[in-house]
Amino acid sequence: MKKVIVTGGSRGIGRACVELFSENDCAVAFIYCSNDEAAEECADETGAYPIKADLSDPEDAEWAYNKAVEYLGGVDILVNNAGISSSGLVTDMTDDEWVRVINTNLSSAFYMSRAAAHDFVRQQSGAIVNIGSVWGRCGASCEVAYSTSKAGIRGLTLSMAKELGPSGVRVNCVEPGVIDTDMNACYDDDDIAELCEQTPLYRIGDPAEVAELVYFLASEKASFITAQIIGVDGGFGI
Ligand code: NDP
Repeated sequence: MKKVIVTGGSRGIGRACVELFSENDCAVAFIYCSNDEAAEECADETGAYPIKADLSDPEDAEWAYNKAVEYLGGVDILVNNAGISSSGLVTDMTDDEWVRVINTNLSSAFYMSRAAAHDFVRQQSGAIVNIGSVWGRCGASCEVAYSTSKAGIRGLTLSMAKELGPSGVRVNCVEPGVIDTDMNACYDDDDIAELCEQTPLYRIGDPAEVAELVYFLASEKASFITAQIIGVDGGFGI
């Protein structure tokens, strides 16, 4: 039975990953930040183990990682999915907001990956799947911190894949396009219609469609795949 940690697993894409891994006989622990109700519901429905921690904080991240490993009795797969969005003109962005977005979206993945790397190198196996974003590739106007954090996820993926590859550890990145989650609840029907128009498949995606690729990349079926950055985006941004 594979042992899996999913960050941001209580809602949206992370929740879909928790569901898919759990359905496929994995032992899953997931980390969330504040929404206890969503976490409880996810835990009840999937049997996965919830851990509450703010992963933008290095001490919290270390505590949460150790708690997950203790519950699972080890770890084989880490999915770095926790993230927040932030929009506004770059000229209006405060230092605090910049740091909040970078630390939540990028530093959290570094803290968790660094912790997992110790265990993965020792056991000479392991898989990390990072969740980036199409905006990390294309850049988004009025989402400078978000896009930068997701571009950083590309660098984290590639460099960790090179460093950990000789130890049998694979590191890949999935970049979703526009996916139907709470993160996009700020968009009204007209905004969504416009985003669909920019998407060759002419619709937004479902969290389960992202989870399918995460699951594949984490599985033995992807045993010779590392350092790859793959979009689940309906062709958005080409
Ligand atoms: P949601 O807003 O639906 O869920 C976010 C999850 O992350 C929640 O479980 C939340 O926990 C958790 N989280 C947020 N901040 C922290 C933190 N500091 N510490 C621990 N957990 C935290 O997001 P999505 O499912 O839409 O997004 C998931 C990932 O996919 C993100 O990295 C996002 O950037 C990326 N993505 C999403 C796209 C989309 O269109 N939806 C497009 C491209 C990329 P809680 O509920 O407790 O706050």
